Amino acid sequence: MTSTTPRVATGAAAGTAVPGGRHPQAWNAVATIVIWLTSLFVVALWVSGAGIQSLFAMNAETLNTIGRLTGLVSANLLLYQVLLMARVPLFERGFGRDAMIRLHRLAGFWSFWLLMLHIVFLVAGYAAQAGMNPLAQAWQFVWAYPGMLLATAGTALMILVVVTSMRRSRRRLRYESWHLLHLYGYLGVGLAIPHMLWTGADFITHPAAAAYWWALWALAAACVLVFRLAAPLWRSLRHDIRVASVTPDGQRGVVVRMRGRGLHRLHARAGQYFVWRFLDGAGWSAGHPFSLAAAPDGDEFVIAARLVGDGSQRLTRLSPGTRVLVEGPYGHMTGERRTGGKLLMLAAGAGIAPLVALLESEPYRPGDAVLVTRDRDELDRMRATEIDRLTLTRGVRHVTLNGPRGDEPRWFPARYAAWDGAELIRRIAPDLDECDVYVCGPAAWMAAVRADLARAGVPAERIHSEAFAV
Ligand SMILES: Cc1cc2nc3c(=O)[nH]c(=O)nc-3n(C[C@H](O)[C@H](O)[C@H](O)COP(=O)(O)OP(=O)(O)OC[C@H]3O[C@@H](n4cnc5c(N)ncnc54)[C@H](O)[C@@H]3O)c2cc1C
Repeated sequence: MTSTTPRVATGAAAGTAVPGGRHPQAWNAVATIVIWLTSLFVVALWVSGAGIQSLFAMNAETLNTIGRLTGLVSANLLLYQVLLMARVPLFERGFGRDAMIRLHRLAGFWSFWLLMLHIVFLVAGYAAQAGMNPLAQAWQFVWAYPGMLLATAGTALMILVVVTSMRRSRRRLRYESWHLLHLYGYLGVGLAIPHMLWTGADFITHPAAAAYWWALWALAAACVLVFRLAAPLWRSLRHDIRVASVTPDGQRGVVVRMRGRGLHRLHARAGQYFVWRFLDGAGWSAGHPFSLAAAPDGDEFVIAARLVGDGSQRLTRLSPGTRVLVEGPYGHMTGERRTGGKLLMLAAGAGIAPLVALLESEPYRPGDAVLVTRDRDELDRMRATEIDRLTLTRGVRHVTLNGPRGDEPRWFPARYAAWDGAELIRRIAPDLDECDVYVCGPAAWMAAVRADLARAGVPAERIHSEAFAV
């Protein structure tokens, strides 16, 4: 082991009480039950349409019924893909952002491949029944069946979304271009749905099933309109949020302070983020997610952004008085997640912003909170003044792990290469078993931290994180 040890700063402090903590498991249970109930309904629909009998018929009907089942499950997953990104409070609270994105991707993968199987099986089944060439059958489907032309256009859009979301093509596209193409997915889903209700055997023969399905889709569309458009717009106008000041934060960051009317009524908590849109001219419509960088206090919100591209650079040019549109508050990396009294906070780069806000607002005793910051260089550190204040006034122990990365995918700098990651964590936080651990930074860095935390014996329910990535 190397003699190099992380730098630690501690200050004298005044203490506060140790928290209780409200558990969000109930939200998670309700959200999970809702998903399972609707999924079971879809399978029940297929069974009640003699799906099982057709499956064992061992003729063209077998192909058709597999086609129907894959289509139903695919449509149900498409519904959840939309709902999971519609910012529905039930799913926001039940799963949190990172889990929702994972579920959205998983649902996307399966809904797409089940959609492909749906097409293949139905074309093969109908072609076998009619004694036709499958290509001629596919052609006939598109032109002769109600809603199928729309469904074909919808499928083409979904293929476009899937192809542009594959890792290799995603890397080549600008975030904004990818996001715009991704929005075409909504149109694709909208175009694909009517054919089910106009031609799907399960719906034509069961009016109640058709009513249920229409209602579910109308609800999904309403959720998108309400939670992604109407509610954020209404809140932004009601609270009249405006830029108050813009100041540098370290050599590659900026702090934006905003004020508004009755901001406390938004019930934002430290650790949460908003998607922000600044009405400062052309290009305002591209929203960017930034976490609250200070405990939300009265009628002021503060964000601290690393200058990485157009969107964050633009913040440096904002003038006081600029109107701000907000979507949020989102995120579950809050104090509600705490299970015990002590805290270990690990931040890389701009990931420090929400962790400082949490340390400012959470109760803990002096010496019971450790903050680890990871930057390439000391001058890059964001929220430096606030961190110093926390060490002095709240007794936070601050550990810096600065320096360039090594070749290996590790969360600490190359100069600590001789350390084992799990051992390093225990060395930094000897009372790790009593700590809730908050982790924030780039996704790959967080994955490396989580792996070492797991090896150090920290159970998953005591690790709370939010990745700064899509
Ligand atoms: C939940 C969350 C909270 C965040 N909080 C902070 C914070 O407090 N401080 C901070 O400095 N950064 C934060 N980020 C990262 C920040 O959103 C991006 O750095 C910023 O949007 C980059 O935009 P850009 O135009 O400057 O850079 P670009 O060069 O356009 O983008 C750089 C990278 O940022 C990501 N990105 C860009 N636009 C968006 C977007 N609209 N939504 C999601 N990701 C995007 C993409 O992965 C992109 O590859 C957060 C990200 C998320 C997801």
